[in-house]
Amino acid sequence: MKPFFRDTWVEIDLDAIRANVQAFRRHLPGQTEIMAVVKADGYGHGSVQVGREALQSGANSLAVAMLDEALVLRKAGITAPILVLGYTPLDSVAQAYEWDIALTAYHAEWVHQAARLVAEQFRQKETPLAIHVKVDTGMGRIGVQTEAELDELVAALHQSPVMQWSGIFTHFACADEEDTAHVRKQHERFQALLEGLRQNGYVLPKVHCCNTAAAMVFPEWGYDSIRLGIGLYGLYPSMYLKQREQIMLTPALTLKTKISHVKTANSPFTVSYGATYQAQAGEQIATLPIGYADGFSRLQSNRGVVLHHGRRVPIVGRVCMDQTMVSVPRGDAEVGDEVVLYGRQGQEEISLDEVASLMGTINYEVSCLLNHRLPRLYV
Ligand code: PLP
Repeated sequence: MKPFFRDTWVEIDLDAIRANVQAFRRHLPGQTEIMAVVKADGYGHGSVQVGREALQSGANSLAVAMLDEALVLRKAGITAPILVLGYTPLDSVAQAYEWDIALTAYHAEWVHQAARLVAEQFRQKETPLAIHVKVDTGMGRIGVQTEAELDELVAALHQSPVMQWSGIFTHFACADEEDTAHVRKQHERFQALLEGLRQNGYVLPKVHCCNTAAAMVFPEWGYDSIRLGIGLYGLYPSMYLKQREQIMLTPALTLKTKISHVKTANSPFTVSYGATYQAQAGEQIATLPIGYADGFSRLQSNRGVVLHHGRRVPIVGRVCMDQTMVSVPRGDAEVGDEVVLYGRQGQEEISLDEVASLMGTINYEVSCLLNHRLPRLYV
């Protein structure tokens, strides 16, 4: 039986995921591992399938934003190390311990309380809870900022028999920009904090700071691991880096649908809510069963294009919740014809960057918007 019944779906090319991991593997120093970032359901691509493919292609571990996302991976049978990059509420720490998920810490008090909760709940401890320390070197989001806070946090981890200090990391705010002043400043601060820890006699655990952009531009900052997000999916972190093209990436995602209705205007008629488009006599309008409730943005109304028979055709009228109309060359379209909304058809391509630029956003958001109403097909 078909696993889904609608004529609109997302195709994910797992060979592209493999090629992208391998491209970064070649670009990085030999000792630098790859942590595949599969938060937000793998940036809309499917965290379990992409995570598995990345691990089979040479990635060493996975990262997500929150514990719930980590549990999806574990419950699907993935046994590789998984790191939660964001905050974990204290009442969820026991779950992380039970499922062997590494957590991020940036406050000594959180460590003391989390350690107490784990020790109370699991009297027969076998393995400690892995903790990566987050330092804020210029992102201003989460992380310790001062030497004193860092010392207190690391000391707290050393005091706790149920926790293991497994990593230390920071995150860059501007690694995708042409001007490297901010990222260099952040890296210098990170280095200084690491050096301070060494001088205090600590042996450093796994050190990581690079996202996709930093790994592209500064592979020598790879340390023990990079955290590879957007590049894993074959997308560039910014138009600047796309133009610079240090690494050839292969986009993994295609959004497809099939025409659900075709009509030719005998006399002019208006299309969709607000009657913002008027079809002229003789013009052919095709309806597509996709809308903003799928994450196909209403910002595409009267502006976006789709691919039909390898040609660009315009979206006409407003994108509805479940349906979208396009104007096609007369006599060219039939119900059931395949249409590509994002990705390649024949020689033509609508990149996520093009859609992002139309929407005034970034490619990250365009793929993350595609929600669970759209089935994913792995090819
Ligand atoms: N590390 C952290 C802490 C992140 O929040 C993210 C994503 O936002 C990444 C790594 C991956 O970044 P990118 O997708 O730009 O590679």
